[in-house]
Amino acid sequence: MISEDFLHYVWQFGLFNRTYLSTINSRDVLQILVVGVPNRDAGPDFYHAKIKTSHEILAGNIEIHVRSSDWQKHKHHLDAAYDNVVLHVVYEYDKPTLRSDGTIVPVLELKNRIFPHVIEKSNYLLQKKTTWIPCEQQIGSINKISIDGWLSRLLVERLEHKLANINECLTEQKGSWDDTFYIFLARNFGFKINGLPFEMLAKSLSQVLLAKHKQTPLQIEALIFGQAGFLEGTFKDEYHHLLQQEYQFLQQKYELKPLNISIWKFMRTRPQNFPTIRLAQFATLVNQSNHLFSKIISTENVQEIRKLFTKIKSTHYWQNHYRFDSDTPTFSNKTLGKNAIDNILINTIALFLFAYGKHMGSEIYMDRAIELLENIPAEKNAIITQFNALGIKYHSAFYSQALLQLKNNYCDPKKCLTCGIGSIIIQKK
Ligand code: SF4
Repeated sequence: MISEDFLHYVWQFGLFNRTYLSTINSRDVLQILVVGVPNRDAGPDFYHAKIKTSHEILAGNIEIHVRSSDWQKHKHHLDAAYDNVVLHVVYEYDKPTLRSDGTIVPVLELKNRIFPHVIEKSNYLLQKKTTWIPCEQQIGSINKISIDGWLSRLLVERLEHKLANINECLTEQKGSWDDTFYIFLARNFGFKINGLPFEMLAKSLSQVLLAKHKQTPLQIEALIFGQAGFLEGTFKDEYHHLLQQEYQFLQQKYELKPLNISIWKFMRTRPQNFPTIRLAQFATLVNQSNHLFSKIISTENVQEIRKLFTKIKSTHYWQNHYRFDSDTPTFSNKTLGKNAIDNILINTIALFLFAYGKHMGSEIYMDRAIELLENIPAEKNAIITQFNALGIKYHSAFYSQALLQLKNNYCDPKKCLTCGIGSIIIQKK
């Protein structure tokens, strides 16, 4: 099966026999001088191409279809945006191509010209029914420098994809990087399972309000647990009761509406990740850090950024509790574990350094984001383990993040034709 995407790829990389080229309708000699720039938006497929016929050089656009009759099917013959097409590239010619003014567009037929190994290898990748990725037989034999280069591009692509969410929140927060960062950081504290409740909590409890109570850690915990919905009802523990009293006073003062406790998930979560523990740690972070975002962007040594999180430990009550009113026989500081800190450094800190650098047009912050990722060990998850098993092994989060981008955005939707690794496999004879 020849697809339009495949023909784009063949045209872009010139993967066809170019000797004695001629246009099919006028039988004119044809030379391709410039293939053009791919256009991902509406309009012709390639801009700024240049071709030479026996009597002239033509500069303009290229349109690509499986059959020449697709031109009419897509109503390009009625659309003046296609009048500047200088060449219609098709797999099979079955109908003349006409512009909206009735003039004929030269057509190049690629059938019998595409290199056989290109068809064979792309079919192999695109049609392979596999349990994991289509190129699992070949990827291990690809030159490491080529894979490194492709993954570096994917890492930047991944960070840029995530910028859209930051920009949306930044607009919502009226351009405040501090508040946007606070919301993303809170979301990250909930990790996958309680990310949304944490985000709702941060949006319902402004930093300005919290800052007013920083002198009194009990009030910060009362505001956080009260807003999260954990301070309603009657309690056994004195501490729980104390928080409730503080919250009731502050709730009235600031007219706060608590979230519903049912949004928090404890199921399938290890006790150290219970939302109660994460909320207690978040309360400590709020207490211990003033202007955290400014601190992060002004910290030049990336190891210093890690230290901001290693010192977070929960308050005394939580040392022998995972939930309210239910103590445990053993005491522990309930600090943020190494994996949790790495997760925050990857998903919030590096991302914000990159986003802020991009926003300010400053490579210093973007480079710091990259340096941070290079200094964090590769994540351990099912995708990275599978790549390791195929011989693709890396030690830093810089590459593990890029591998996640590769798997989710290229391998799963079978975008092998736009993948740097796919390109090497397909073009290799
Ligand atoms: S997208 Fe790239 S890495 Fe993934 S299966 Fe295709 S060729 Fe391989």
